[in-house]
Amino acid sequence: MSVTSGHAEVPMLDLRSEVDELWSDLSDAVARVLRSGRFILGDEVAAFEAEVADYLGVAHAVTVNSGTDALIIGLRAAGVGPGDEVITTPFTFFATIEAIHHVGATPVFVDIAADGFNIDPDAVDAAVTERSRAVLPVHLFGDPAPLAAILAVARRHDLRVIEDCAQAFGAGADAAASAPRASSGGQPDRPLTGGLGDAGAFSFYPTKNLGAYGDGGMVTSNDAEVAARAVSLRNHAATNGERYRHTDVGYNSRLDELQAAILRVKLPHVATWNRQRREVARRYDALLGGLERVTLPPRTPGHVYHQYTIRVPAASRSDVRTRLADEGIASSMFYPPWSGAWPDFLARLPGRCPRAERAATEVLSLPIHPRLTEAQQERVAAVLAESLA
Ligand SMILES: *Cc1c(COP(=O)(O)O)cnc(C)c1O
Repeated sequence: MSVTSGHAEVPMLDLRSEVDELWSDLSDAVARVLRSGRFILGDEVAAFEAEVADYLGVAHAVTVNSGTDALIIGLRAAGVGPGDEVITTPFTFFATIEAIHHVGATPVFVDIAADGFNIDPDAVDAAVTERSRAVLPVHLFGDPAPLAAILAVARRHDLRVIEDCAQAFGAGADAAASAPRASSGGQPDRPLTGGLGDAGAFSFYPTKNLGAYGDGGMVTSNDAEVAARAVSLRNHAATNGERYRHTDVGYNSRLDELQAAILRVKLPHVATWNRQRREVARRYDALLGGLERVTLPPRTPGHVYHQYTIRVPAASRSDVRTRLADEGIASSMFYPPWSGAWPDFLARLPGRCPRAERAATEVLSLPIHPRLTEAQQERVAAVLAESLA
């Protein structure tokens, strides 16, 4: 906290207020699970899977232990394996790339689009080879990647599409990707991300738009076979119902009953929270729009602003962050340049993704969560303006 300003700190997010707000429902849910004596793959997991599939408008939701596992299991369930190439973006959290590596496939990086931070569909098309098996778009920061264009490329080359939805729970897919369904009471407009490719991978890491209070993740699919493979893989590839018959090598990757019960308390609020995030983003847009050296985030319809990420001149970023920190205002770099990163990753990059490499030097993520106040945002904007003057 700044000694002179006397203002309270502005954190990136605020999970404690959320827990306070939901305390009575959360403690009921936790007590219900404890009293049930059932902690793995019970009624809570089954109920959450049905509720979340309904919310997202997908046929199948298969919970797993983390978003990283959801990517690994989603890739394998969709038929991606050793020898395959998976076309993806280098501008993402490392788990996206780890997952491709863990299934024995090779990541092929293509650049992000000229605006925003998501993969460029034209670059995907140009990167297709005989070994290409899948495209893995990431809906980064909650901004839906251009799925209509990606699905068109995938259809043309017979590629699977696995969506990384870790940051995009409840985000709307671009309307052209499939015919939107009529929205029903309190539900967001359809379609949502996670239901358009062969599989969607979600994370319930506590900071995500729908977060557990521990690790958790989920594979979504409209394909019954993909979903059945995910159900098997998450539980040691045991054959349907037959406990000690393993037809493949799987994982121990199950969401537990406590986390499922907690997620059931939070799911009915997520549409409101995402709407509040959009309102926070619109207020930042208005406050920062006049700053010449700031580039605002894209205003894609359906964006759920997991992060509010602006660009500032690379040479000023570190000073800006120091100034914000001096005033007790948190900020983050999602994601910094790859110096010192996994050598295999670097070896595949040089010169091929100049836009992503430039973004890494310019991005600055500001505090955003449903409870961020107008006064807090005005302080963030004032310090930012002053530090860039
Ligand atoms: C958080 C995240 C993951 C991994 O999720 P975990 O639940 O932490 O394993 C994967 N991809 C992206 C883009 C993420 O932000």
